[in-house]
Amino acid sequence: MPQTLPVAIRNYSTDGTLEIDWSDGHQSRYSHEWLRVQCPCADCRGHTPEQAKVISGKEQVRITGGEPVGNYALRISFDDDHNTGLYEFSGLRHTLCGCATCSDKQTDKETCAS
Ligand SMILES: [Zn+2]
Ligand SMILES: [Zn+2]
Repeated sequence: MPQTLPVAIRNYSTDGTLEIDWSDGHQSRYSHEWLRVQCPCADCRGHTPEQAKVISGKEQVRITGGEPVGNYALRISFDDDHNTGLYEFSGLRHTLCGCATCSDKQTDKETCAS
């Protein structure tokens, strides 16, 4: 199955919103706070679910940059000096997407993932 790749990434730091256009035509929206709270790095997640940190107080956090890693992930830098999270494209596209379409279909993930 071909990877779904980002074709355009737009960062709106005033709104705290990140938009990604995907090679399958989908357009994703994320809030910067949401992506920060979902950071997948070992520091934030720990090695077991019990070790995962509860990240809070990040309402004002902003994304300062993003850098593709290979062709599978995006490394996102935040203005709280955190830049170790590698967000896999498949997770961004299918799990974390906060666009209206995906939010509506949260009870029907299969439709969104297709
Ligand atoms: Zn992290
Ligand atoms: Zn979506």
